[in-house]
Amino acid sequence: MPLISEAGWRFDNSYTRLPELLFDRTPPVPVQRPAILAFNEPLAADLGMDAGILRAAGAAVFVGNELPPGADPIAQAYAGHQFGHFTNLGDGRAILLGEHLTPDGRRVDLQLKGGGRTRYSRGGDGRAAEGPMLREYIIREAMHALGIPTTRSLAVASTGEWVRRETPLPGAVLTRVAASHIRVGTFEWAAAHREVEALRALAEHTRQRHYPEIENDPVALYEAISERQAALIARWMLVGFVHGVMNTDNMALSGETIDYGPCAFMDAYHPETVFSSIDRNGRYAYGNQPPIAQWNLARLAEAMLPLFHADEKQAVEIANGLIPKFEPRFKHHWLAGMRAKLGLLTEEAEDATLIQDLLNEMQESEADFTNTFADLTTGRFEPDEWHQRWQSRLQRQPQPREESIALMRRHNPAFIPRNHQVEKALAAAQEGDMQPFHALLDVVSHPWDHDRHLPDYAKPGTAAGYRTFCGT
Ligand code: AMP
Ligand code: MG
Repeated sequence: MPLISEAGWRFDNSYTRLPELLFDRTPPVPVQRPAILAFNEPLAADLGMDAGILRAAGAAVFVGNELPPGADPIAQAYAGHQFGHFTNLGDGRAILLGEHLTPDGRRVDLQLKGGGRTRYSRGGDGRAAEGPMLREYIIREAMHALGIPTTRSLAVASTGEWVRRETPLPGAVLTRVAASHIRVGTFEWAAAHREVEALRALAEHTRQRHYPEIENDPVALYEAISERQAALIARWMLVGFVHGVMNTDNMALSGETIDYGPCAFMDAYHPETVFSSIDRNGRYAYGNQPPIAQWNLARLAEAMLPLFHADEKQAVEIANGLIPKFEPRFKHHWLAGMRAKLGLLTEEAEDATLIQDLLNEMQESEADFTNTFADLTTGRFEPDEWHQRWQSRLQRQPQPREESIALMRRHNPAFIPRNHQVEKALAAAQEGDMQPFHALLDVVSHPWDHDRHLPDYAKPGTAAGYRTFCGT
């Protein structure tokens, strides 16, 4: 039996050196019969871990029954605006094992989502169900393959226990890998407790960890966070991703996508697309994501006020200058990304109109977002008046046509995790058949493969009224 301690762990837990206001030491709660459901071998190797040892050692470490050497488990404290309302939260069902140092010098959090109750669990059981954790796994891997900054999934392990939801469901724990789990809500927590020194320590920790290139200056830190969020949200928009629950506690300051709950990819293009069962007013609809990101960053600015200036009036003035800069940042990234999707290698003033006209046409005809751009890439797009305008726009570029097509192939995925395929994979997994899950994982891990003919994975198919649920 290989020793789990020899799998290549290298912990250095800098977060536990921060003020105690920010976390609570707590071990994962053991489970009855752990078994690995999914294990991300390439990611393990990328982290400098021995995938063979990890797999052979089984699931004990992925549910928290066994702690790797150097782990110092904590639950992190945070607050958050949920659908606009401030609440004190914290890791209610996640245990941070610690920070692992990779051979190439990265520092990543290893966290067990569903690892048991903590001080912050409130009424919850601290657990997660198998279906939502497998769902997170697939969508995360798809996002990663699309080149979008994201937290990763190292493993999903079943617990052999039931979790009580509307019906009893099989329990599971997801091992999440993240640049960090520092959220807008983490700053809100420190600010709400009026602990300026904790806030300052958190800001400095965040800078050193995620923005080492900038100087120790809260304004510069805020600008860098805003810039990275703008780039991230643009990437979501460009592939039709709807996060679904962009509460401030679900926005990571690293700029990675986090907290995959009721997220889904849009089929037919419509800015008002919503999947989440609890998002009745469309607050987190596809087209609302950029303004909501700015709203969340306004909450971050509020939390950071005491760092901006000792005088509150002046601090507010600084914040008011910083917050609106998100929008032009987002627009810049979005326009650059849209140009790439259309194979535009040069810039013309009319490009924004050309793009908007296509989107309007797509909305009118309820065209599938992904397949419209895939069809433009592969030449299957039904020519019309807009297509002619686009063609003449392409002809005004000095670059050869192949260069445009190559660019489009890198920016317009052939495959995204289609809702019907995700549901099919999860339904089979629930019956103990992981084959559809692995087949789907393989497809979404190669999103740019336009030469692969897999109509069942490319066709849209979202049942009318398709609803997703928070990762409960
Ligand atoms: P989420 O909607 O997944 O971002 O979670 C919001 C908050 O609820 C976080 O503080 C979670 O830790 C907490 N939470 C969600 N599910 C549970 C659960 N089953 N037990 C305890 N806390 C939970
Ligand atoms: Mg969350």
